[in-house]
Amino acid sequence: MSRQIVTSAEETQEDRKIDSSGLRPQTLEEYIGQQKTKQNLKVYIDAAKMRGDSLDHVLFYGPPGLGKTTLAGIIANEMGTNLKVTSGPAIEKPGEMAAILNNLHPGDILFVDEIHRLNRQVEEVLYPAMEDFAIDIVIGKGATARSIRIDLPRFTLVGATTRPGMLSAPLRDRFGVIGHLEYYSVEELKAIIVRAADKLNVRIEDKGALELARRSRGTPRLANRLLKRVRDFAQVRYDGVITDRVASDALDLLDVDQYGLERLDRMILETMILKFGGGPVGLDTLAASVGEDSGTLEDVYEPYLLKTGFINRTPRGRVATRQAYEHLGYDFPEDPAEAASS
Ligand code: ADP
Repeated sequence: MSRQIVTSAEETQEDRKIDSSGLRPQTLEEYIGQQKTKQNLKVYIDAAKMRGDSLDHVLFYGPPGLGKTTLAGIIANEMGTNLKVTSGPAIEKPGEMAAILNNLHPGDILFVDEIHRLNRQVEEVLYPAMEDFAIDIVIGKGATARSIRIDLPRFTLVGATTRPGMLSAPLRDRFGVIGHLEYYSVEELKAIIVRAADKLNVRIEDKGALELARRSRGTPRLANRLLKRVRDFAQVRYDGVITDRVASDALDLLDVDQYGLERLDRMILETMILKFGGGPVGLDTLAASVGEDSGTLEDVYEPYLLKTGFINRTPRGRVATRQAYEHLGYDFPEDPAEAASS
Protein backbone atom coordinates (compact mmCIF):
# COMPACT_ATOMS: atom_id res chain seq x y z
CA MET A 1 0.00 0.00 0.00
CA SER A 2 1.42 3.33 -0.99
CA ARG A 3 0.54 5.10 2.24
CA GLN A 4 2.61 2.61 4.19
CA ILE A 5 5.53 3.00 1.86
CA VAL A 6 5.48 6.75 1.91
CA THR A 7 4.83 8.04 5.37
CA SER A 8 4.16 5.25 7.81
CA ALA A 9 6.78 5.79 10.47
CA GLU A 10 7.30 2.05 10.90
CA GLU A 11 10.64 0.78 9.68
CA THR A 12 10.60 -0.83 6.23
CA GLN A 13 13.14 -2.83 4.29
CA GLU A 14 13.87 0.28 2.28
CA ASP A 15 14.80 2.11 5.50
CA ARG A 16 17.23 -0.62 6.43
CA LYS A 17 18.81 -0.18 3.02
CA ILE A 18 18.99 3.57 3.59
CA ASP A 19 20.69 2.92 6.91
CA SER A 20 23.29 0.69 5.39
CA SER A 21 24.32 3.71 3.34
CA GLY A 22 25.73 5.27 6.51
CA LEU A 23 22.93 7.66 7.39
CA ARG A 24 22.56 6.54 10.97
CA PRO A 25 24.57 8.89 13.17
CA GLN A 26 27.31 7.08 15.11
CA THR A 27 28.16 9.64 17.79
CA LEU A 28 26.26 12.06 20.01
CA GLU A 29 27.91 14.88 18.12
CA GLU A 30 26.49 13.69 14.78
CA TYR A 31 23.03 13.14 16.26
CA ILE A 32 20.94 16.19 15.43
CA GLY A 33 18.25 17.56 17.78
CA GLN A 34 16.84 16.09 21.04
CA GLN A 35 19.12 18.46 22.95
CA LYS A 36 17.78 17.64 26.42
CA THR A 37 18.07 13.88 26.01
CA LYS A 38 21.51 14.25 24.48
CA GLN A 39 22.81 16.49 27.25
CA ASN A 40 21.55 14.11 29.92
CA LEU A 41 23.05 11.11 28.19
CA LYS A 42 26.40 12.82 27.81
CA VAL A 43 26.59 13.46 31.56
CA TYR A 44 25.68 9.86 32.41
CA ILE A 45 28.04 8.42 29.81
CA ASP A 46 30.96 10.58 30.96
CA ALA A 47 30.27 9.74 34.61
CA ALA A 48 30.07 5.99 33.92
CA LYS A 49 33.30 6.14 31.94
CA MET A 50 35.06 8.03 34.73
CA ARG A 51 33.95 5.43 37.26
CA GLY A 52 34.88 2.64 34.87
CA ASP A 53 31.38 1.27 35.39
CA SER A 54 28.50 0.31 33.10
CA LEU A 55 25.89 2.94 32.30
CA ASP A 56 22.62 2.94 34.22
CA HIS A 57 19.67 1.32 32.40
CA VAL A 58 18.05 3.71 29.92
CA LEU A 59 14.47 3.93 28.64
CA PHE A 60 13.61 5.92 25.52
CA TYR A 61 10.03 6.63 24.64
CA GLY A 62 8.34 8.50 21.81
CA PRO A 63 6.72 7.90 18.41
CA PRO A 64 8.39 5.58 15.87
CA GLY A 65 11.21 6.84 13.66
CA LEU A 66 12.54 9.53 16.00
CA GLY A 67 15.91 7.92 16.73
CA LYS A 68 15.58 5.56 19.70
CA THR A 69 17.47 2.68 18.08
CA THR A 70 20.04 5.12 16.75
CA LEU A 71 20.68 6.41 20.28
CA ALA A 72 21.18 2.87 21.59
CA GLY A 73 23.90 2.37 18.96
CA ILE A 74 25.46 5.69 19.87
CA ILE A 75 25.57 4.75 23.55
CA ALA A 76 27.42 1.55 22.67
CA ASN A 77 29.87 3.51 20.50
CA GLU A 78 30.47 6.18 23.10
CA MET A 79 30.95 3.58 25.84
CA GLY A 80 33.17 1.50 23.55
CA THR A 81 31.08 -1.63 24.09
CA ASN A 82 28.99 -4.06 22.04
CA LEU A 83 25.36 -3.59 21.09
CA LYS A 84 23.00 -6.54 21.14
CA VAL A 85 19.59 -5.87 19.59
CA THR A 86 16.32 -7.65 20.25
CA SER A 87 12.68 -6.75 20.69
CA GLY A 88 9.74 -7.43 23.01
CA PRO A 89 7.75 -9.64 20.64
CA ALA A 90 10.86 -11.62 19.60
CA ILE A 91 11.40 -13.11 23.05
CA GLU A 92 8.66 -15.52 23.93
CA LYS A 93 10.06 -17.59 26.79
CA PRO A 94 11.86 -16.68 30.02
CA GLY A 95 14.63 -19.13 29.06
CA GLU A 96 15.33 -17.16 25.87
CA MET A 97 15.77 -13.95 27.81
CA ALA A 98 17.97 -15.75 30.36
CA ALA A 99 20.17 -17.06 27.52
CA ILE A 100 20.54 -13.61 25.96
CA LEU A 101 21.50 -12.11 29.33
CA ASN A 102 23.90 -14.92 30.10
CA ASN A 103 25.78 -14.30 26.85
CA LEU A 104 26.43 -10.63 27.51
CA HIS A 105 29.93 -9.31 28.21
CA PRO A 106 30.78 -6.67 30.81
CA GLY A 107 29.54 -3.24 29.73
CA ASP A 108 27.46 -4.57 26.81
CA ILE A 109 24.35 -2.69 25.75
CA LEU A 110 21.24 -4.83 25.38
CA PHE A 111 18.68 -2.96 23.28
CA VAL A 112 15.10 -4.14 23.61
CA ASP A 113 12.81 -2.45 21.12
CA GLU A 114 9.06 -2.39 21.81
CA ILE A 115 9.83 -3.33 25.37
CA HIS A 116 6.17 -2.87 26.37
CA ARG A 117 5.42 -6.03 24.40
CA LEU A 118 7.50 -8.36 26.59
CA ASN A 119 5.28 -10.89 28.25
CA ARG A 120 5.03 -11.01 32.02
CA GLN A 121 7.19 -14.10 32.59
CA VAL A 122 9.96 -12.79 30.37
CA GLU A 123 9.76 -9.42 32.08
CA GLU A 124 10.22 -11.04 35.46
CA VAL A 125 13.60 -12.39 34.38
CA LEU A 126 14.65 -8.80 33.84
CA TYR A 127 13.90 -7.60 37.39
CA PRO A 128 16.83 -9.27 39.20
CA ALA A 129 18.97 -8.92 36.06
CA MET A 130 18.56 -5.15 36.03
CA GLU A 131 18.77 -4.70 39.78
CA ASP A 132 21.32 -7.21 40.99
CA PHE A 133 22.92 -8.39 37.72
CA ALA A 134 21.74 -11.93 38.35
CA ILE A 135 19.14 -14.36 37.08
CA ASP A 136 17.28 -17.00 39.03
CA ILE A 137 16.86 -20.29 37.26
CA VAL A 138 14.52 -23.01 38.47
CA ILE A 139 15.87 -26.53 38.14
CA GLY A 140 13.71 -29.63 38.43
CA LYS A 141 9.97 -29.88 38.90
CA GLY A 142 7.43 -30.11 41.70
CA ALA A 143 8.75 -30.93 45.19
CA THR A 144 12.37 -31.24 44.03
CA ALA A 145 12.40 -27.91 42.19
CA ARG A 146 14.98 -25.45 43.42
CA SER A 147 16.14 -22.11 42.28
CA ILE A 148 19.76 -21.23 41.62
CA ARG A 149 21.13 -17.76 41.08
CA ILE A 150 23.55 -17.06 38.24
CA ASP A 151 25.59 -13.88 38.26
CA LEU A 152 25.66 -11.75 35.13
CA PRO A 153 28.22 -9.21 33.96
CA ARG A 154 27.31 -5.57 34.60
CA PHE A 155 25.43 -4.62 31.46
CA THR A 156 23.14 -1.79 30.39
CA LEU A 157 19.60 -2.39 29.26
CA VAL A 158 18.33 0.19 26.77
CA GLY A 159 14.59 -0.13 26.30
CA ALA A 160 12.54 1.65 23.66
CA THR A 161 8.80 2.06 23.53
CA THR A 162 6.16 4.03 21.70
CA ARG A 163 3.83 3.40 24.63
CA PRO A 164 5.35 4.21 28.02
CA GLY A 165 1.90 3.92 29.62
CA MET A 166 1.86 0.20 28.85
CA LEU A 167 5.05 -0.51 30.77
CA SER A 168 4.49 -2.16 34.13
CA ALA A 169 5.54 -0.10 37.15
CA PRO A 170 8.19 -2.60 38.38
CA LEU A 171 9.90 -2.51 34.99
CA ARG A 172 9.66 1.25 34.57
CA ASP A 173 11.08 1.84 38.05
CA ARG A 174 14.22 -0.11 37.22
CA PHE A 175 15.38 2.38 34.61
CA GLY A 176 17.76 5.00 35.99
CA VAL A 177 17.67 7.26 32.94
CA ILE A 178 14.51 8.09 31.03
CA GLY A 179 14.58 10.01 27.74
CA HIS A 180 11.49 11.36 26.03
CA LEU A 181 12.08 11.80 22.29
CA GLU A 182 10.08 14.58 20.70
CA TYR A 183 9.18 15.42 17.13
CA TYR A 184 11.98 17.35 15.40
CA SER A 185 11.69 20.99 14.38
CA VAL A 186 11.72 21.90 10.69
CA GLU A 187 15.22 23.35 11.08
CA GLU A 188 16.53 20.15 12.67
CA LEU A 189 14.96 18.02 9.95
CA LYS A 190 16.46 20.27 7.34
CA ALA A 191 19.90 19.69 8.83
CA ILE A 192 19.25 15.92 8.84
CA ILE A 193 18.18 16.06 5.17
CA VAL A 194 21.21 18.11 4.11
CA ARG A 195 23.52 15.67 5.90
CA ALA A 196 21.78 12.66 4.34
CA ALA A 197 21.84 14.23 0.86
CA ASP A 198 25.57 14.75 1.24
CA LYS A 199 26.10 11.10 2.20
CA LEU A 200 23.93 9.87 -0.66
CA ASN A 201 25.56 12.27 -3.16
CA VAL A 202 22.27 13.96 -3.88
CA ARG A 203 22.28 17.58 -4.98
CA ILE A 204 19.71 19.56 -3.06
CA GLU A 205 19.06 23.28 -2.81
CA ASP A 206 18.48 24.94 0.52
CA LYS A 207 14.84 25.62 -0.28
CA GLY A 208 14.35 22.05 -1.49
CA ALA A 209 15.63 20.75 1.84
CA LEU A 210 13.31 23.13 3.67
CA GLU A 211 10.29 21.95 1.69
CA LEU A 212 11.14 18.33 2.43
CA ALA A 213 11.69 19.09 6.10
CA ARG A 214 8.30 20.78 6.40
CA ARG A 215 6.57 17.71 5.06
CA SER A 216 8.43 15.04 7.03
CA ARG A 217 6.08 14.95 10.05
CA GLY A 218 8.85 15.84 12.47
CA THR A 219 10.35 12.38 11.86
CA PRO A 220 13.91 11.67 10.62
CA ARG A 221 12.97 8.24 9.28
CA LEU A 222 10.40 9.86 6.99
CA ALA A 223 12.77 12.67 6.07
CA ASN A 224 15.32 10.13 4.81
CA ARG A 225 12.67 8.13 3.01
CA LEU A 226 11.12 11.16 1.30
CA LEU A 227 14.57 12.39 0.31
CA LYS A 228 15.18 9.15 -1.58
CA ARG A 229 11.80 9.28 -3.28
CA VAL A 230 12.25 12.88 -4.31
CA ARG A 231 15.77 12.16 -5.52
CA ASP A 232 14.41 9.49 -7.88
CA PHE A 233 11.81 11.91 -9.09
CA ALA A 234 14.43 14.63 -9.65
CA GLN A 235 16.57 12.24 -11.64
CA VAL A 236 13.81 10.99 -13.89
CA ARG A 237 11.87 14.19 -14.49
CA TYR A 238 14.36 16.96 -13.89
CA ASP A 239 18.11 17.39 -14.01
CA GLY A 240 18.75 15.63 -10.73
CA VAL A 241 18.85 18.67 -8.47
CA ILE A 242 16.21 18.89 -5.74
CA THR A 243 14.81 22.42 -5.78
CA ASP A 244 11.78 23.51 -3.78
CA ARG A 245 9.67 23.11 -6.93
CA VAL A 246 10.90 19.55 -7.52
CA ALA A 247 10.36 18.65 -3.86
CA SER A 248 6.90 20.12 -3.78
CA ASP A 249 5.78 18.50 -7.07
CA ALA A 250 7.15 15.12 -6.04
CA LEU A 251 5.54 15.26 -2.62
CA ASP A 252 2.20 16.27 -4.13
CA LEU A 253 2.45 13.22 -6.35
CA LEU A 254 3.24 11.08 -3.33
CA ASP A 255 0.11 12.50 -1.70
CA VAL A 256 1.99 14.18 1.13
CA ASP A 257 0.52 17.63 1.74
CA GLN A 258 2.10 20.89 3.00
CA TYR A 259 1.76 19.78 6.62
CA GLY A 260 3.17 16.33 5.99
CA LEU A 261 -0.30 14.79 6.23
CA GLU A 262 -0.96 11.88 3.94
CA ARG A 263 -4.04 10.11 2.75
CA LEU A 264 -4.84 8.28 5.97
CA ASP A 265 -4.32 11.37 8.14
CA ARG A 266 -6.75 13.26 5.98
CA MET A 267 -9.16 10.34 6.01
CA ILE A 268 -9.08 10.33 9.81
CA LEU A 269 -9.88 14.04 9.94
CA GLU A 270 -12.52 13.78 7.25
CA THR A 271 -14.20 10.85 9.02
CA MET A 272 -14.26 12.79 12.27
CA ILE A 273 -15.82 15.77 10.53
CA LEU A 274 -18.32 14.07 8.23
CA LYS A 275 -19.28 11.00 10.22
CA PHE A 276 -18.98 12.23 13.78
CA GLY A 277 -19.72 15.94 13.45
CA GLY A 278 -16.17 16.77 14.48
CA GLY A 279 -16.30 14.51 17.56
CA PRO A 280 -15.88 13.71 20.33
CA VAL A 281 -15.31 10.20 19.03
CA GLY A 282 -13.59 7.30 20.80
CA LEU A 283 -10.33 5.92 19.44
CA ASP A 284 -11.69 2.43 18.76
CA THR A 285 -14.75 3.72 16.90
CA LEU A 286 -12.58 6.00 14.82
CA ALA A 287 -10.11 3.21 14.07
CA ALA A 288 -12.91 0.91 12.94
CA SER A 289 -14.32 3.65 10.70
CA VAL A 290 -11.06 4.22 8.87
CA GLY A 291 -10.17 0.51 8.79
CA GLU A 292 -6.97 0.85 10.80
CA ASP A 293 -5.78 -0.86 13.95
CA SER A 294 -6.43 1.33 17.02
CA GLY A 295 -2.88 0.79 18.33
CA THR A 296 -1.39 2.09 15.08
CA LEU A 297 -3.79 5.00 15.12
CA GLU A 298 -2.72 5.87 18.65
CA ASP A 299 1.04 5.37 18.17
CA VAL A 300 1.65 6.55 14.63
CA TYR A 301 -1.09 8.87 13.42
CA GLU A 302 -2.60 10.53 16.45
CA PRO A 303 0.56 11.97 18.07
CA TYR A 304 1.39 14.02 14.99
CA LEU A 305 -2.20 15.20 14.48
CA LEU A 306 -2.26 16.26 18.14
CA LYS A 307 1.07 17.98 17.91
CA THR A 308 0.15 19.94 14.81
CA GLY A 309 -3.19 20.94 16.35
CA PHE A 310 -5.52 19.16 13.94
CA ILE A 311 -7.18 17.20 16.71
CA ASN A 312 -7.63 17.55 20.46
CA ARG A 313 -8.03 14.92 23.10
CA THR A 314 -10.92 15.39 25.52
CA PRO A 315 -12.19 13.10 28.29
CA ARG A 316 -15.05 12.09 25.97
CA GLY A 317 -12.89 11.35 22.94
CA ARG A 318 -11.04 13.01 20.08
CA VAL A 319 -12.31 16.18 18.44
CA ALA A 320 -11.37 17.81 15.14
CA THR A 321 -10.17 21.40 15.54
CA ARG A 322 -10.98 24.48 13.50
CA GLN A 323 -7.62 24.03 11.79
CA ALA A 324 -8.66 20.56 10.59
CA TYR A 325 -11.92 21.89 9.14
CA GLU A 326 -10.12 24.71 7.39
CA HIS A 327 -7.32 22.54 6.07
CA LEU A 328 -9.80 20.15 4.47
CA GLY A 329 -11.97 22.98 3.19
CA TYR A 330 -15.01 22.55 5.46
CA ASP A 331 -16.82 25.28 7.41
CA PHE A 332 -16.13 25.08 11.10
CA PRO A 333 -19.41 24.79 13.04
CA GLU A 334 -19.37 27.60 15.58
CA ASP A 335 -21.13 25.32 18.08
CA PRO A 336 -19.62 21.85 17.59
CA ALA A 337 -22.10 20.28 20.04
CA GLU A 338 -24.94 21.39 17.81
CA ALA A 339 -23.20 20.01 14.74
CA ALA A 340 -22.63 16.68 16.47
CA SER A 341 -26.30 16.28 17.35
CA SER A 342 -27.70 17.39 14.00
P1 ADP B 1 13.26 4.57 16.27
O1 ADP B 1 14.11 3.52 16.89
O2 ADP B 1 12.88 5.67 17.23
O3 ADP B 1 12.05 4.03 15.56
P2 ADP B 1 15.55 4.97 14.52
O4 ADP B 1 16.61 5.16 15.53
O5 ADP B 1 15.50 3.67 13.81
O6 ADP B 1 14.11 5.33 15.14
O7 ADP B 1 15.71 6.19 13.48
C1 ADP B 1 15.12 6.20 12.22
C2 ADP B 1 16.06 6.73 11.17
O8 ADP B 1 16.19 8.13 11.28
C3 ADP B 1 17.46 6.17 11.29
O9 ADP B 1 17.65 5.39 10.17
C4 ADP B 1 18.42 7.33 11.25
O10 ADP B 1 19.16 7.31 10.06
C5 ADP B 1 17.55 8.55 11.26
N1 ADP B 1 17.76 9.39 12.45
C6 ADP B 1 17.13 9.24 13.63
N2 ADP B 1 17.50 10.20 14.49
C7 ADP B 1 18.36 10.99 13.84
C8 ADP B 1 19.08 12.18 14.21
N3 ADP B 1 18.93 12.73 15.40
N4 ADP B 1 19.90 12.71 13.30
C9 ADP B 1 20.02 12.15 12.07
N5 ADP B 1 19.37 11.05 11.66
C10 ADP B 1 18.54 10.46 12.53
